[in-house]
Amino acid sequence: MLPPMTVQNMFAGDPLDRAAALRRDDDWVRAQMAAPTTRFLILRDMLIPVTGENPLSLVWGTRDDVPEASEFVLLGLEEGEARFAVAADATPGHEGYADLRMIASQLPADAAATASYARALLSWHVNAQFCPRCGGPTVLRAAGGSRRCQQCEASHHPRIEPVVIMLVTNGTRCLLGSRTAGPEGRYSTLAGFLEPGETIEEAVRREVWEESGVVVGDVRYHSSQPWPFPSNLMIGCMAEALTTDAEADGDELADARWFTRAEVRPILGQPQGAFPIFLPPPTAIAHQLIKTWLDAGD
Ligand SMILES: [Zn+2]
Repeated sequence: MLPPMTVQNMFAGDPLDRAAALRRDDDWVRAQMAAPTTRFLILRDMLIPVTGENPLSLVWGTRDDVPEASEFVLLGLEEGEARFAVAADATPGHEGYADLRMIASQLPADAAATASYARALLSWHVNAQFCPRCGGPTVLRAAGGSRRCQQCEASHHPRIEPVVIMLVTNGTRCLLGSRTAGPEGRYSTLAGFLEPGETIEEAVRREVWEESGVVVGDVRYHSSQPWPFPSNLMIGCMAEALTTDAEADGDELADARWFTRAEVRPILGQPQGAFPIFLPPPTAIAHQLIKTWLDAGD
C-alpha cells in the first residue's frame, strides 16, 4: 500500500540549494543581491510571472527590475547563482501573471516547486509585518528565513499549517466525500486541519469520525505535498475503516459514500463532465492516494 520512493507530488522537489548557513551571513547576502548572475522572481499579489505556452516558464527579473524598498527573500542557489523572491507590484515590461493553482500542471515540476516555495514564503512575510506577541514592527532576518520584532526582539519563523488528507478503505471499497461547498459532483478523499495536541493518526481518526461517522483503526503515512495556498502541508495517509456505516455530517460534507475499485477506475483522471461524478486531478495528492489503492487490487 505504500508508494515507491519515486512518487513525487506536485510542488515537491524544489531543486534549489537553500544555503542554510550562508543565508545568515548578511555580507554574503548583500553580495548575492548585487551579483550580475543573481535573478529575482517578482510576484504581483502572489501571482506568478510566467511566459510561453504549455509548458510555461517562470520569468526571472534582474536587480534593476526590483523596486528599491522591497524585501529580498532568498530562495536558494542554482548552480551557485542566487535566486531571490520579491513581492512587488510588477516586473517592469512583463505582463503575464498567473494563479499558481491554475497553471501548476503546465510548469515543469522543478519550476512548479520553486514557485510554490516562493509563494508560500512571500505570503508569510507579507502577513508577518507585525509581531503577534506585542504588535511591534518586524524586520526580515537570515535573508527571509525568519523575522525579528524590533520592539520585543521575539523571533518568528515561517508558518506551515498541516492538513491530514486520507483515503479510508475497507479492503474492497474506499470512502469518498463531496463537500457542501461544491462543486457539485466532485468527490475526493476526506481531509482536515491538525489540531494542537494531536498526532497525525489521531487527526485522521477524528476528522473521519466527525465528517462521516466511520471509525478508523490503522493509519499509514503515504506521502506529503506542500500546498502554498497559502501555507499548508498536506499529509497523505491511508486509513483502514473498522466500521462501514457512513453518513455525511452535512456541515463540511454533503455526501460520504463507499466506492469499489471497478467504480473508481474509469473515473480517475477523467475531466469534469465526462461522468456524473469527477475526482481530483493528478496534481492533487488525493489523486495519488486513490491511485495507490487502485494499483493495489483488482
Ligand atoms: Zn514583539
